[in-house]
Amino acid sequence: MQYDFYKSPLLRVYTEIEDGHMRMKTSGAASILMKKNLEKNLSVFEGEKPAKVEAGRLICSTWMPPIPSPGFDRLVKSQLFSILGKKIPDQVTISITEECPNNCIHCALPDTKNRAKLTPETVKSTIDQVLEMGTTFVIFDGGEPLTYPDLEDLIRYVDSEKAITGMFTSGVGLTEERANRLKEAGLYSLTVSFDSAHEDKHDHVRGRKGVFKSAVEAVKNGLKAGLLVNIYVVLSRDNVNELEDLYALASELGVHELSFYEIVPTGRWMDHASEIMTPKDLRKFDNFVSGAREKEGPRVFPIPQVMKTTGCMAGRKWLHITPEGNILPCACIPIPYGNVHRDSIKDVWKRIREDPAYNAKCCLMRNPEFREKYLKVLE
Ligand code: SF4
Ligand code: SF4
Repeated sequence: MQYDFYKSPLLRVYTEIEDGHMRMKTSGAASILMKKNLEKNLSVFEGEKPAKVEAGRLICSTWMPPIPSPGFDRLVKSQLFSILGKKIPDQVTISITEECPNNCIHCALPDTKNRAKLTPETVKSTIDQVLEMGTTFVIFDGGEPLTYPDLEDLIRYVDSEKAITGMFTSGVGLTEERANRLKEAGLYSLTVSFDSAHEDKHDHVRGRKGVFKSAVEAVKNGLKAGLLVNIYVVLSRDNVNELEDLYALASELGVHELSFYEIVPTGRWMDHASEIMTPKDLRKFDNFVSGAREKEGPRVFPIPQVMKTTGCMAGRKWLHITPEGNILPCACIPIPYGNVHRDSIKDVWKRIREDPAYNAKCCLMRNPEFREKYLKVLE
């Protein structure tokens, strides 16, 4: 079976699933002219496992609209614009509430304790604006988004012809019934955070007993409800030795994807700039990723590796809205370029794009020069 990423009289980009892996292919006159660019962009899919293959529908990743779908066509259009120099915030995370029952060591939210939240009207206006700009992935984030009573209404509000919806959760409060309600509202992917494959360690990092059990239940309930389920791990020096255990847990639970990010010194972790992963840790991670590709089990999405090809997404492909309405270039850069309560998101995006910092190849929050120049202003 072939799945078309793009098809026109001059260019066809498609994938074939061979032995459970994606093999990227191109044809047409333009494929020769665009060879270098295509190779670079398609390398992130080549040889990878997809998250799910259905009859007539391919889900490369829980982070991307399915193929075929109108949302995926919009994403391809956005990538073509990007090659021509026009950047679109493909992914927008909306931190709808600061409310959260947990107390994670590495939380990206500052400890304001003011329990801010966005009203449903403000979130809907934000959704309208970003869909108009071309966004294809709207993610509801927190705090803990499950504490937000109108969550289902917000999910339903996102036009599924334009974008998919996702939710980042610790899993606390995701009962079977709630998972069914989220599915019915149109939630596309559920992302549940794990810091460790071991209960005690996970609960320690999350600052509360019982969070591990809730996360496991949330995954099971999400799968039962028919949602695409992604386990999300923020890798640090502390849990990099648990990669195989985390893969075993994800396989046992039967999730569609296991995504890894690298710890970023921000929020409660702001002063820990020197505690980022070492080159040895990163080599360990690289070896694990190559091995997992050939194993039975879920797709692994190694964000730090993918970013070596795509560059840092802050203010280039990603926008983040905080519970106070501040508009940030990504969830980890605490620099407000505007606020949804008074500014048009399009104008703020333009302002961010005018700043040459937001074309970075590597993580800006791990870049000492960026921290020195930009974060000093906040002190
Ligand atoms: S990281 Fe998420 S779950 Fe943990 S305290 Fe922060 S908002 Fe809550
Ligand atoms: S600065 Fe870039 S790499 Fe770092 S967290 Fe933000 S988007 Fe990710």
